[in-house]
Amino acid sequence: MGYYEGMIIKMPENAKIILDTMHEAGFEAYVVGGCVRDALLGREPMDWDITTNALPQDTKKLFRRTIDTGIEHGTVTVMMGKEGYEITTYRIDGKYEDSRHPSEVTFTKNLTEDMKRRDFTINAMAYNEEEGLIDKFGGVEDLNNKLIRCVGNAHERFSEDALRIMRAVRFSAQLDYSIEEETKAAIKELAPTLTKISAERVQVELIKLLESDHPEKFMDLYDLGITGVILPEFDACMKTGQNNPHHIYDVGTHTVKSLGYVGNDKVLRLTMLLHDIGKPRTVSTDQNGIDHFHGHAALGMKMAHDIFRRLKFDRETMDRVCNLIKYHDDRFPAEPKNVRRAINRVGVDDFPLLLDVKYADTMAQSSYYQKEKLAEISEIRTLYDKIMEENNCVTLKQLAVGGKELIGLGIKPGKQIGDILNAMLKDVIDEPSHNTKEYLLEPERLKNVFMKEHEQGEEHEKTSSDN
Ligand code: ATP
Ligand code: MG
Repeated sequence: MGYYEGMIIKMPENAKIILDTMHEAGFEAYVVGGCVRDALLGREPMDWDITTNALPQDTKKLFRRTIDTGIEHGTVTVMMGKEGYEITTYRIDGKYEDSRHPSEVTFTKNLTEDMKRRDFTINAMAYNEEEGLIDKFGGVEDLNNKLIRCVGNAHERFSEDALRIMRAVRFSAQLDYSIEEETKAAIKELAPTLTKISAERVQVELIKLLESDHPEKFMDLYDLGITGVILPEFDACMKTGQNNPHHIYDVGTHTVKSLGYVGNDKVLRLTMLLHDIGKPRTVSTDQNGIDHFHGHAALGMKMAHDIFRRLKFDRETMDRVCNLIKYHDDRFPAEPKNVRRAINRVGVDDFPLLLDVKYADTMAQSSYYQKEKLAEISEIRTLYDKIMEENNCVTLKQLAVGGKELIGLGIKPGKQIGDILNAMLKDVIDEPSHNTKEYLLEPERLKNVFMKEHEQGEEHEKTSSDN
């Protein structure tokens, strides 16, 4: 069954109260945009926006608790309990400067004028209970045909606001829709104007695309010339073949395939997107014609760092993704000791993600030893689960001995304490039963084993010449 104009939308009680209040005061009011689209699709709308011919000052008089969210653009937020509803006056966006912001907005009395300023037909529908669905631009038809299509002239719409280029691909990934031909042609032509959009806004759309159910649509960003503008490092991956038994795709295609094998989590998807970003610059071909990529993980981590800075990502996301890229290609035997060492190296929180990354990476490779690779990852996961369940010590926090105890024994505070604790941790990671005060603080052992490591470290520093 398709979508049709007579469909009934079930809106939250509070949205209904707002619409009724405005109608009783003699104003027009509708729920509009994303929520109408999502409700028709049977998806839970994130927020219910309302459009009205009432001016902000009129809206404010009708409700007890309001916030001036963007009065100059006609938006007031009405608080209903803990929920906020954005109510925006019908408006026409004035001339756009630099494919970015309208330099002015004009309020209008006409709903259709307000719908015209919206980006895509499926986002340009309004609804209230009295009049049902208002669909002036064929939004329902495009829902039925699974199409992202601009309202009006596509070239004009993208010229007004280049962010819509990203939004088009993002919606196509969230909904698994195609982009209508004319809309697509305009994107190709205007993709270079994305340079005018702030990195933060581009980033938001990129994340929504990657977190969607169809991250493989990332390839559309490449096909439409968008990565060439926002992520040229990826275009280099598309040009880098991988002639070795492990691979069947070029680096870029492998990357996009791998996206589909991790869950829709921001850190995991970003890691897959960038895990091999260092390959184009590290490729070498041996005398047998086989491609190698020595050091691609380390370089990839550095490149990812620069990319995240450029796209103004938050620190935590950047650090986690870079950490996973750094270790994505490390191999270690599926043995408890090695797994504990790896958990310590990678971090307790990131380690299970690393296994997800390795799984996805392997799934997007050739069938060469694929079964064995997957079996190994799954063995490591079983060991990881057991280590966590048994609460084996893999971090300083879990060590049976702390700095205070060492100071209590008369060891001077400073670097030595850290060195001793780290020597103890190393011992305990290799042998969990050693994680007791009795064992670690046994005087002979403390003096001859753990404190020795510190002294040797000091010696090494004095004689070391590798600067
Ligand atoms: P999401 O699920 O991400 O919230 P949405 O469609 O609701 O998707 P919003 O950014 O919340 O997107 O915008 C609400 C509505 O405002 C859209 O449905 C669309 O009608 C309009 N809109 C938003 N951004 C633009 C834009 N850049 N150009 C034109 N119209 C836009
Ligand atoms: Mg929205």
